[in-house]
Amino acid sequence: MYIRDTIAAVSTPPGNGGIGIIRVSGDLAAVVGNTVFKPVYDGGLVSHRFSFGTICDDANGETVDEAMAVYMRAPRSYTREDVLELHCHGGWLVVERVLALVLSCGVRLADPGEFTRRAFLNGRIDLIQAEAVMDIIASKSESALQLAQKQREGALSRRIEDVRGCLLRALALVEAYIDFPDDDLGETDVAAISSSVEDAQCIITGLLTTFEEGRITRDGVSVLIVGKPNVGKSSLLNRLLKENRAIVTHIPGTTRDIIEETVNFEGLSVRLLDTAGIRSTDDLVELEGISRALEKIPLADLVLAVFDSSCEFSPEDQLIFDALADSRTIAVLNKADLPMRLVLPDENRFVTMVRIAALSGDGIDLLRHTVCSHFLHSTASDSREFVALSKARHRDALISAEQFLQQFTCGLRDRNLELLALDLRDALQAVGTVTGQTATDEVLDLIFSSFCIGK
Ligand code: GDP
Repeated sequence: MYIRDTIAAVSTPPGNGGIGIIRVSGDLAAVVGNTVFKPVYDGGLVSHRFSFGTICDDANGETVDEAMAVYMRAPRSYTREDVLELHCHGGWLVVERVLALVLSCGVRLADPGEFTRRAFLNGRIDLIQAEAVMDIIASKSESALQLAQKQREGALSRRIEDVRGCLLRALALVEAYIDFPDDDLGETDVAAISSSVEDAQCIITGLLTTFEEGRITRDGVSVLIVGKPNVGKSSLLNRLLKENRAIVTHIPGTTRDIIEETVNFEGLSVRLLDTAGIRSTDDLVELEGISRALEKIPLADLVLAVFDSSCEFSPEDQLIFDALADSRTIAVLNKADLPMRLVLPDENRFVTMVRIAALSGDGIDLLRHTVCSHFLHSTASDSREFVALSKARHRDALISAEQFLQQFTCGLRDRNLELLALDLRDALQAVGTVTGQTATDEVLDLIFSSFCIGK
């Protein structure tokens, strides 16, 4: 439900900073501005113009801070309501005091994401674009940011609108016959309806194929480093991080827990997890580390199984071999600077093998590139035209729409117009949840509650 009261919140992050911004949205925005802000120059607040002045507490005549204020009259604002922003100094105390002063003017503290929710409810953006705003803020890599910006600009929304357009055309034809029950569905109209539905299915299928790559681009991937002790896992982690994060020693078993760091590989956000060396041991702490490492194998998007290529394949290597997932493992043959002695029992277990020397850094760039291309195969993802699904919510809605359309296609033989119309309406309902036309309050609550306050 949308109650048109006036809301306010601090829009800059908590803590101290150069500037703190207090944002106000709603009918009282101008009143708040004229009450708490005293411009230095005459003329008061002019829409879409910054003015310089002070924030004053009229109750005691005290100047709270020196500030800039900008008032944006509806509908030319983020929320399409009247909006006021007060830019004061960025200390947490001064920001809190300005906020308290604003709230004393009869304004309510905003809920998380409430400004963006209002932008959505007032039709300035759809739900995909609202979610993209959050993705922009949370982006951890260039490619994630690019994808989020495309969704904010409406690239994905346009595709979804195309689907809706096709389905609405098909529905209009079917409903025309429902209104005239004496007429039989003619072959020409059946062909036109089928063709519209096929067009919709084609766009949906195309979008669903982009999901995995979109998800990876948005959320990044987890890459687990496993191997028996002393093969060079920590040296590899340090090389990949370009810093000495993990302890490297010649004493086996120095990494007993899991070390986790996030890095960027060619624009892809990669969460690297270095695990304890896997081998038979009586040391309780080390045993715990090893069991944690084995538990992580099925959860990782990709495993780097590290072997010491200067040693023969050992029973400890076999332990790792047995725990690996076939389609998600790259064999990393380390210590390429030493003579090769390792013979792997089954090379086909691996996506590929990369020979490196973690000590000198040889082969590390190739390894980074191999990891990236394992995830981002489509050259389309580099192109400006690449439109991808990146959220499970969107994917699930489209899968559901696809199922209704398959049902529709099967039903076309029987030509039960009521059932055909029902399938199309259900498909439209499912597609509409993506852009928000048919999203319930519960769905909106769930989405916007994950936003930050002030956004
Ligand atoms: P971990 O136990 O698997 O994490 O292995 P470390 O990274 O701690 O390395 C174990 C030992 O192998 C250390 O003495 C490293 O200096 C050495 N080492 C690591 N990578 C290489 C390499 O590429 N070549 C050689 N010759 N030694 C290496």
